[in-house]
Amino acid sequence: MRSDSPIIAVRDLLGRPLESLRLSVTDRCNLRCLYCMPEEDYTWLPRAELLTFEELTRLVEVFAFVGVRKIRLTGGEPLLRHDLHELVAMIAPNPRVDDIALTTNGVLLAEQAAGLRKAGLHRVTISLDTLRPDRFHAMTRRGDHARVLAGIAAAQRAGFTGTKLDAVIVRGVNDDELAGLIEFGRAHAAEVRFIEYMDVAGATQWSPERVLSRAEMLQRLEQRYGKITPAREDSAAPAERFFLPDGTVFGIIASTTAPFCSRCNRSRLTADGQWYRCLYATSGTDLRGPLRAGASSSALAEQISAIWSARTDRGAEQRKSERFRGAFVSLDELQRDPHLEMHTRGG
Ligand code: SAM
Ligand code: SF4
Ligand code: SF4
Repeated sequence: MRSDSPIIAVRDLLGRPLESLRLSVTDRCNLRCLYCMPEEDYTWLPRAELLTFEELTRLVEVFAFVGVRKIRLTGGEPLLRHDLHELVAMIAPNPRVDDIALTTNGVLLAEQAAGLRKAGLHRVTISLDTLRPDRFHAMTRRGDHARVLAGIAAAQRAGFTGTKLDAVIVRGVNDDELAGLIEFGRAHAAEVRFIEYMDVAGATQWSPERVLSRAEMLQRLEQRYGKITPAREDSAAPAERFFLPDGTVFGIIASTTAPFCSRCNRSRLTADGQWYRCLYATSGTDLRGPLRAGASSSALAEQISAIWSARTDRGAEQRKSERFRGAFVSLDELQRDPHLEMHTRGG
């Protein structure tokens, strides 16, 4: 495949293009967020099976050939992958990729922000669920809140713009911090986005009662600030954006109560090369096997294109239509197949 080969933009059976790829660079994490990794023990992917930077870069090239323009590095905690800036520097020259972003818990960001920016990273999203150190400790069961705040400051110093702060809101845990988080974001030139608690695999403590819906978030914020105006946008981005009366912008990702599957243009690659077309998919496609067996880029592109063309996934919508809803998969199943975990397939 030549670097000037035309892009073969592929669409699935619901007309959705394949534009965005979330690359999970590790399944390991230095936190244990209660909504993502609430258990004591986890089954980890064997290290020898993780894709090398060369393999990841090659797969990005192939995905870009079938239409992917946006790459998001995620995990687990992506900053645990040694020398992540080198991967960024390898992907950045690809002329078809116009956006390279990172989702991180921020714990290791202070040390790495400048190097990542220099390597060509465009944007960062930092998870920040609470402004209270004691609550942070309770929610993540380890980790130092001050380091996350230092990471946010370092991202700003390194020159990143368009920084997002993502907060998963769990009723009875941090749902009293909506206004505080928005104000923190405003003071740090970052847009806060509230994520509804999702029943993804791995969220074994999920229950419908613990979800604070978009409607309730808006109602609470209106009570405090007055009229909230939705931004008029036509985008495949998961967050809907809103303005407070003073013009401050914030977002809500209402994956649980108002899923956006009909415009979902993203898929996920695990650190060991399994490709998933939906956050709720229970099986994926092994791309590491053919890659290591010497498949050509054209053959890989054809395989990806054929599979995406047949895609019908709309996991969150299907979950919403279920009458009795609890955890998505059992602990036993998670232990048997760690690829089901949110921290393995990359949120
Ligand atoms: N470790 C990094 C971080 O936390 O930012 C990146 C990986 S993490 C799996 C990606 C995103 O998934 C985070 O923003 C996290 O809050 C979100 N997430 C994990 N479990 C979730 C759940 N049950 N409901 C909603 N969002 C969840
Ligand atoms: Fe928390 Fe992200 Fe780690 Fe999951 S992967 S436990 S969301 S820091
Ligand atoms: Fe896309 Fe699946 Fe999430 Fe729906 S549930 S938005 S199809 S990843």
